[in-house]
Amino acid sequence: MRVLSRLSCCLAALLLTACGGKPGDAQLVVYTARAEHLIQPLLLRYTEETGIPIRFVTDKAGPLLARLAAEGEATQADVLITVDAGNLWQAAQQDLLQAIDSPILEANVPAHLRDPEDRWFGLSLRARTIIHSTERVDPEELNTYAGLADDRWRGRLCLRTSKEVYNQSLVATMIASGGETETETLVRGWVDNLAAPPFASDTQVIEAIAAGQCDLGLVNSYYLGRLQRQQPDLPVALFWPDQAAGERGVHVNVSGAGVTRHSPRPEAARAFIEWLSAGEAQRLFASLNLEYPVNPEVAPAPLVAAWGEFRADDINLSTAGELQAAAVRLMDRAGYH
Ligand code: FE
Repeated sequence: MRVLSRLSCCLAALLLTACGGKPGDAQLVVYTARAEHLIQPLLLRYTEETGIPIRFVTDKAGPLLARLAAEGEATQADVLITVDAGNLWQAAQQDLLQAIDSPILEANVPAHLRDPEDRWFGLSLRARTIIHSTERVDPEELNTYAGLADDRWRGRLCLRTSKEVYNQSLVATMIASGGETETETLVRGWVDNLAAPPFASDTQVIEAIAAGQCDLGLVNSYYLGRLQRQQPDLPVALFWPDQAAGERGVHVNVSGAGVTRHSPRPEAARAFIEWLSAGEAQRLFASLNLEYPVNPEVAPAPLVAAWGEFRADDINLSTAGELQAAAVRLMDRAGYH
């Protein structure tokens, strides 16, 4: 029985491949800035389910966008996957993505996590939030992102460099909700409170807190998850800021995807992104990197759920792109490098 059912699966895959239309049609090419080990299991699963083989290229967002621009109409790429809405916005801005009309994506991806013009869609959600030592900080002392500028944290804060897109997107959305003057004052307060020059990575920020070099910082939630998997007793915890009525909520960002402007197979590309937005694929996309599913019907992994519920900022993430340049200038003026 087992052999028979496996045979019929193979047959189904072969038939799908053979009946996919013109030669070369039944395949997809994906350019992805999401790391290979986070995306490859999904690509294999899609091929298993549909018989459509997927070729992929991994690189950082910048080089992938440059490659798409250089290839123009000759590109073989159908789908672009990147981390951070700031990067997705850049791709759309450079006319490297096309709008997709998809009732499925409209239903599965909340409106603030996708492009208002439907050129990109968030597929997993990460919170950029406060992290603190469980030994030297009482969570009662914490409240908001702005509160990290308070004098009580002098010499106790660790931050990642402002050169990376994550902090640019955070500050861009702060400008949108609080205005430029208020945001600059509080970023100056963060800089005044630094215990050490900004670090290259979020992981280094968490390790510095665990090691006692500083007491609190700002990181993407999944970096704590990665360390917690190896060291469940790490003396650091997440805190959800800005939860009171009238406050903005936790800053969230996405990994997401869009169909390339010159995709040779735009219909197949749309179907693949739709598949990623629901069910088991959506669960896997988020949980491989310990992120939150964007689809509210899909539950996060147990380790992620254990961090507790929070209210997220529901500002549309295209703001992260629109105000990115202003955020970079502001951080530079404030001495945050
Ligand atoms: Fe990351």
